Amino acid sequence: MDFNLSQDEREFIVSFRNFCKKEIHPFAEEADKKKEFPRSHYTKLGEAGYLGLLHEEEFGGQGAGVFLSTLAMEIVSEYCGSTFFSAGASAGLFGLPIKHFGTSDQKKKFLPDIISGKLIGSLGVTEPDGGSDVSALTSIARKKGDRYFISGQKTFITNAPNADYSLVLARAQDENGNEKGLTHFIVDLRSKGVSRSVAMDKMGLKASPTGALFFEDVEVSEENILGKLGKGFRQTMQTFNAERLSLAAYSLGVMKACLDESKSFASSRKSFGKSIYQHQGVAFMLAEIYAKYEAAKWFTYNVAWEMERIESEGKGSMLLSGKCAACKLFATTAAREVTNLAVQIHGGAGYMDEYKVSRLYRDTRLGEIGGGTSEIQKLIISGSIMKEN
Ligand SMILES: Cc1cc2nc3c(=O)[nH]c(=O)nc-3n(C[C@H](O)[C@H](O)[C@H](O)COP(=O)(O)OP(=O)(O)OC[C@H]3O[C@@H](n4cnc5c(N)ncnc54)[C@H](O)[C@@H]3O)c2cc1C
Repeated sequence: MDFNLSQDEREFIVSFRNFCKKEIHPFAEEADKKKEFPRSHYTKLGEAGYLGLLHEEEFGGQGAGVFLSTLAMEIVSEYCGSTFFSAGASAGLFGLPIKHFGTSDQKKKFLPDIISGKLIGSLGVTEPDGGSDVSALTSIARKKGDRYFISGQKTFITNAPNADYSLVLARAQDENGNEKGLTHFIVDLRSKGVSRSVAMDKMGLKASPTGALFFEDVEVSEENILGKLGKGFRQTMQTFNAERLSLAAYSLGVMKACLDESKSFASSRKSFGKSIYQHQGVAFMLAEIYAKYEAAKWFTYNVAWEMERIESEGKGSMLLSGKCAACKLFATTAAREVTNLAVQIHGGAGYMDEYKVSRLYRDTRLGEIGGGTSEIQKLIISGSIMKEN
């Protein structure tokens, strides 16, 4: 399979890997322990060109395609899952809907600073009573004159504790209380009426802050509506397609790291007078890791390639909903199985935080939950294949 990367793209991949080794990897363990993601990391990722990969050059982006961005996400995830999630929530979950649906003023106002890493964004969809079932959300945006007043609560939001802005999905109502449909509002999180939780304690991805956002009659202008009133549900679903592909890319990075760590450990660790990889039981685990990684990799690359082609033809990524869901389901499941095997190969050491596979094992669990659980992916996949003739 030839994905026709240009010379510039190949060079970017080499320099970005070097950047991740130098700037991201050394920080990953410490950040995980301290549960901190310094702001300076966003600016570094901005300077390295990562945050702007999928954004247009006129706003400071690289104008790259989905395929190159998939490769870059895989690389960053090999070194630090928290970096992948926090950077992705800002430039991807917040930035890409603005790129795709925002007005030209919104793009000019928000994208340059998100791409440079000066501002941090987030996406506020999930609520305490509406996660998988997005249509059940209850946050309300009531219209008064040319203003909207948002009330409600969001939970499990990546970057909520330190973001500057959030793209908040709420039920818009006109002045008479009539429902106008789910709508995204770009909300300045320093606005009056906004409060937030501290970072939640969680199983993994400890450096990437996750929290709740509370809105009490938060005033926003009509200019803060993303694109058009009432289009929020479709915008969210399109955003989730890209997120699902990116979670498959994340899973590839995790599996590549597991493969490298496990090969190295299985060579140096000895039992019964030989390296443990010379025991067939361990050799089989290495083989399984490799096979799962390769299968997920080619599936993900294939969907990324198709998404790039579809976008270049000006068609919406909704055409690929089933494939994005299938690729996320497959890669995130494989990554969970692979981290489990990698910990097993490491024996007791694998249970120790000192070894990278322990962090990978904890971190990767989110892949099967965030961006829609595996069960929701199965519903999307079956719905999509049953529509095909
Ligand atoms: C670390 C972290 C970061 C996150 N970041 C963000 C973010 O930045 N922005 C954001 O908006 N959200 C974010 N989320 C929320 C995430 O998207 C949701 O947790 C996820 O979509 C699942 O929703 P839920 O937690 O409400 O689970 P529920 O919907 O309550 O699901 C519980 C269980 O029921 C199953 N289930 C539900 N409905 C069905 C069905 N119809 N058929 C079969 N099974 C079903 C689910 O698969 C799951 O197993 C984050 C979550 C975490 C943990």
